Amino acid sequence: MRNFDPHLCSILIDEKAIQNRVRELGAEISAQYPDGVVLVGILTGALYFLVDLSRAISCPIEIDLIAISSYVGTSSSGTVTYKKDLSREIDDRHVLIVEDIVDTGRTISALLTLLKDRNPRSLGICTLLDKPDRRIVPVPIHHCGFTIPDQFVVGYGLDYNQAYRNLPYIAVLNEPK
Ligand code: 5GP
Repeated sequence: MRNFDPHLCSILIDEKAIQNRVRELGAEISAQYPDGVVLVGILTGALYFLVDLSRAISCPIEIDLIAISSYVGTSSSGTVTYKKDLSREIDDRHVLIVEDIVDTGRTISALLTLLKDRNPRSLGICTLLDKPDRRIVPVPIHHCGFTIPDQFVVGYGLDYNQAYRNLPYIAVLNEPK
């Protein structure tokens, strides 16, 4: 166990709970897509979740990555920017977006609009964390790891100005400066 960072106030979800839930989500997704699915991970926050989730899925998968962001520091900028597009066509494919956290819903909503235009056979959302208290744009979440309160969290891929992604647990950040 590494020393606890003084900028973190508590562990919200420990490593074991994350890994157990990821295994459950993997089983759910395998049952839903017996013929296979394209997992679209949103960089960079969803990387750890995407890798673990993909290993918990037993149906055929392909992996692609997209970069889209609406955040600066700890608050949503309200403007969504695309930084990297998919590297394949997704028309007539089952596609599952893999996200780290859905907060206001703006990011996922913008991505849904973008990907729907490419005519996938189906388009689903799997998020590790859901913060429903701050939702501004309603989004259909098909697979959710954990519903959490309105707190800014880091770890397991989630950052604060690029720090803390490699924590194996999800922790609550003290009031950011
Ligand atoms: P939304 O567009 O739903 O407001 O924001 C989604 C994105 O905001 C996430 O992909 C993530 O990058 C960032 N985000 C939202 N809440 C948190 C949080 O509590 N911690 C961290 N590290 N990022 C967050």
